Amino acid sequence: SLKLARRVTDIRVSPSTAAAQRARDLRAQGRDIVDLTVGEPDFDTPDPIKEVAIAAIRSGDTKYTPVNGTPALRKAIRQDYATRLSIDCADDQICVGGGAKQIIFLGLMATVEPGDEVIIPAPYWVSYPDMVIANGGTPVIVPCVEADRFKLTPASLEAAITPATRWLVLNSPSNPTGVAYTADELRGLADVLRRHPQVFVLSDEIYDRIWYADFSAASIATVAPDLADRTLVVNGVSKSYAMTGWRIGYAVGPKALIAAINKLQSQMSSCPSSISQAAAAFALTADQSQVAETVKVYRARCEATCASLNAIPGISCLQPDGAFYLYPNISGLIGKRTPAGKQITCDLDFVLYLLDSEGVAAIHGAAYGLEPHFRISTATSMEILEDACIRIARACGNLT
Ligand code: PLP
Repeated sequence: SLKLARRVTDIRVSPSTAAAQRARDLRAQGRDIVDLTVGEPDFDTPDPIKEVAIAAIRSGDTKYTPVNGTPALRKAIRQDYATRLSIDCADDQICVGGGAKQIIFLGLMATVEPGDEVIIPAPYWVSYPDMVIANGGTPVIVPCVEADRFKLTPASLEAAITPATRWLVLNSPSNPTGVAYTADELRGLADVLRRHPQVFVLSDEIYDRIWYADFSAASIATVAPDLADRTLVVNGVSKSYAMTGWRIGYAVGPKALIAAINKLQSQMSSCPSSISQAAAAFALTADQSQVAETVKVYRARCEATCASLNAIPGISCLQPDGAFYLYPNISGLIGKRTPAGKQITCDLDFVLYLLDSEGVAAIHGAAYGLEPHFRISTATSMEILEDACIRIARACGNLT
């Protein structure tokens, strides 16, 4: 019989995939389901980007590319980091992969050994802990409180660091909360990191163009350039350009780390799709007004939904700084009973009740490491979001 490796048996299938599957199963049974689980843009990839990909196919741009990406894509990435983050990087400080997800995985694979610790502030994107475990490391989850807008404080970072700490993972704006660090907050974290030269920082900035806050988006790479030799800044085209299926992500970091990631990439996939790389290079360098347009739409949805949720007794929700998620707190509902007499004891009970009673599919907060909350994606139409809020309000109103 098949004997699976520990690196597989020790990890979970993503809980968001499981929640999306529950919704699909019910829909297949004929139920009317409002699915708020999906973390991807509902917009289609803009036509000009598609045209570039079609032209790439026609012109024979259909072969292996260099392991570290095409020169055109690397140039686009370099320019983008220089303009937006004021990071001047050399060509050998850039790597390109099949999504930010693959780059993060390879970054951990290149550096994490059994016994090594990776600090992950909670709530976190569900994949980080499992990626660490799959690579033999130990995730060190640091709870962050809502009073701090779910952000890691210098004191709790300091307390979590040990001689075995290899990485701190930062995600700003965050999935699932949408909150982002200010430049000052990042300076505070950088001060702690300066005292611990063994700690690298993985800054996942995949949502940094989807921005609503009245302060500017900041990167630890910009505020602490002296830490450049241990900072990996990850980004990609999935979220900003509605290109999740094209699978292009990238990172900028210290040469030795980038070389290690590229070495693994050379044995793993050789390179991401040449066609997607052509499209991504175009997306990054073309007129960005389409991004601004979509961000306006995301923002309106996010604000309206946040307001509707806050009007529901028992629910409170922070206004996000960016991304397209809301992470409402449901402590006011814990302990209540459903019309069927079942007690809501945790956020999983609540999302199952929402799905069962009103057909609203969301993901429970425990999956992101902080209870009692639930996560919804607002990357769906205003009509669907309004309908969802009406259903959620009704479900909550029926609790006693
Ligand atoms: N990082 C975060 C925080 C995400 O939410 C996601 C996607 O859900 C990713 C990375 C992965 O993005 P990509 O499509 O580039 O692999």
